[in-house]
Amino acid sequence: MEILLLIKYGELALKGKNRPAFEKKLCENIGTQLKGTDSKIIRKFGRLYVETLDKYFDRVSTALKNTFGIVSFSRALQAPKEMGKIEESALILAGELFKGQRGSRFKVAARRADKSFPLNSYEIACRLGDLLLKSIPGLKVDLNNPDWILNIEVRDSVYLYGPEIKGPGGLPLGSSGRSMVLLSGGIDSPVAAYLMGKRGLKIDAVYFHTPPFTSEKALSKVKELAEILSCYLLSISLYTVPFSEAQVRIKERAPAAEMTLLMRAAMMKMAEKLAGRRNCNSLVTGESLGQVASQTAESLRFTGNQLSLPVFRPLIGLDKEEIIEIARRINTFETSIQPFEDCCTLFTPKHPLIRPNLKRMQDSFRSLEIEELLEIAVNSADVFTF
Ligand code: ATP
Ligand code: MG
Repeated sequence: MEILLLIKYGELALKGKNRPAFEKKLCENIGTQLKGTDSKIIRKFGRLYVETLDKYFDRVSTALKNTFGIVSFSRALQAPKEMGKIEESALILAGELFKGQRGSRFKVAARRADKSFPLNSYEIACRLGDLLLKSIPGLKVDLNNPDWILNIEVRDSVYLYGPEIKGPGGLPLGSSGRSMVLLSGGIDSPVAAYLMGKRGLKIDAVYFHTPPFTSEKALSKVKELAEILSCYLLSISLYTVPFSEAQVRIKERAPAAEMTLLMRAAMMKMAEKLAGRRNCNSLVTGESLGQVASQTAESLRFTGNQLSLPVFRPLIGLDKEEIIEIARRINTFETSIQPFEDCCTLFTPKHPLIRPNLKRMQDSFRSLEIEELLEIAVNSADVFTF
């Protein structure tokens, strides 16, 4: 059986000149998500619709819940603009909603976008409300606290729908450009990637690995995270950059207390180089203020100091518990907590600097003479696509 889904998206954010471009992007992204489900996407008069088959409903529903920009979607019935036909559909839908044990108190919410339709919204609602009361025994109207709402919209055609299933909201992926996330195997950076994807950034990822200090398994964990994230971020290119030589150089030349900060600064520089090649407009990290020594305001000032791209840190004001809650929701948590070593934990000094002096750190960075090593490392990146 064919079914129709009516999709609502963030109308406020999409007002004005940008709207057609946003809508187009959203359609493309829904199309990518729905591959293999025999679905058709229809765009007309400020709404999107998906036509699909009943047997694909679960798959389509999961895909839409993962598509940024969608505020909600609902199964809908379509009727021609004739009151008789509209009433027929309203009875079918109300019967289903009532039978679905949603309760007996209902309300009709009507919206007339086509002002040439002879009844106004109020009249449509009254007419259908009366009909339902008369035809389905046991129903009661409750405008303030209904168990269910029968929605009706008069547009190019008439659409009737019941409950709205929530989408993730946000902006269509890619509508804010492209960004490079520094993706480690931890809990935080996958969440950061998800959140910035939700604000419309198409995400590329870079992972710095340090064989033989870190194992192949640490790398597979990051690949697994990229794969999970691709449910939301569509395809992801993951760049893996060999960081061992640079790391050894830092260990040889820098005081132990400065090591983590210098490594972070080096990673940021390399990420920016890659970002330039991929036309990214920004970097994303999973840093959260004060979470560790390298994430104090002074530390962030230094590690982000030598960059020209903006660095987005969407977790900056979140507690670990809040971050974990999102990680669980987006399904990255269980993978993130697998115990594989990460390059920085191995080289972490016992007493890292908490309030580094910017000038001194910049001098230390210069004395590493590491530019060429960083360039070589970035040039020997491998890329995996998920
Ligand atoms: P995460 O859970 O994301 O690893 P964390 O709390 O462990 O974060 P740090 O290890 O201090 O924090 O890393 C801070 C940020 O630096 C990470 O969120 C990530 O964006 C980036 N980062 C750290 N290590 C790597 C790495 N090996 N490759 C790529 N990015 C990294
Ligand atoms: Mg980490």
